[in-house]
Amino acid sequence: MIEMHDVWKVYPNGVEALRGIDVRIEQGEFCYVVGPSGAGKSTFIKLMYREEKPSSGVILINGVNVKRVRDWKIPYLRRKIGVVFQDFKLLPHLTAYENVAFAMEAIEAPRRKIRSRVEEVLELVGLADRMDALPSQLSGGEQQRVSIARAIVNNPGFLIADEPTGNLDPENSWDIMYLLEEINARGTTVVMATHNKEIVNTIRKRVIAIENGVIVRDEEQGEYGYED
Ligand code: ADP
Ligand code: ADP
Repeated sequence: MIEMHDVWKVYPNGVEALRGIDVRIEQGEFCYVVGPSGAGKSTFIKLMYREEKPSSGVILINGVNVKRVRDWKIPYLRRKIGVVFQDFKLLPHLTAYENVAFAMEAIEAPRRKIRSRVEEVLELVGLADRMDALPSQLSGGEQQRVSIARAIVNNPGFLIADEPTGNLDPENSWDIMYLLEEINARGTTVVMATHNKEIVNTIRKRVIAIENGVIVRDEEQGEYGYED
């Protein structure tokens, strides 16, 4: 479970990106985060995986206060939280296989487990036959699949995605969504910031809308609600 209690984020330049966020996301939920550009969606998401720290308030991941996690323990926090980005953020000099294996090596997974688990997740995302390709040899949709494989390889309870379809064409976007739904169906909580109106209004899930750093709407099976 992810809980935020009166969370504020004020950047050093004085911008109040989040102003008193209260939210609770249960294990197993699939949740979209929508809102205009600059509303605070990315900041909301970055707080969850400790890319940013809250200025005040409390964030609990499975009951653990994220603020109190020491820096050296962040890899272990990230083991519980897989992250997917709009621009994939794959390591360009590593193959698809190596990019995914890297995430297991980072948490010092036993060597004997790495190969079978990496192959298993690459198969799940439909890339069993592209394991030895470099990111530059893969399409955008394939690169996003690798990044999803990397995000789930350590069996996290949470998958956090910041505009995962933002750089993809519609066909690849839908494929990525079906994959995220499958991962969710296997028990992983998914939180996804998105500007994709079509997807939000078709694959109906919980919708949290943020405007000016405040949650203005939180609905089960919600709608996108904006024109862009
Ligand atoms: P969104 O993802 O909804 O576009 P963001 O969370 O990226 O919104 O940004 C919310 C506000 O915080 C914006 O005004 C943005 O310019 C500002 N902001 C985001 N990141 C930083 C940062 N690192 N330093 C200062 N201001 C930031
Ligand atoms: P840093 O803390 O300097 O960003 P890391 O080794 O933690 O370096 O991460 C390297 C890259 O992998 C970064 O772009 C980071 O955002 C990304 N990353 C870290 N953890 C995860 C994860 N669980 N899922 C997906 N990407 C991750």
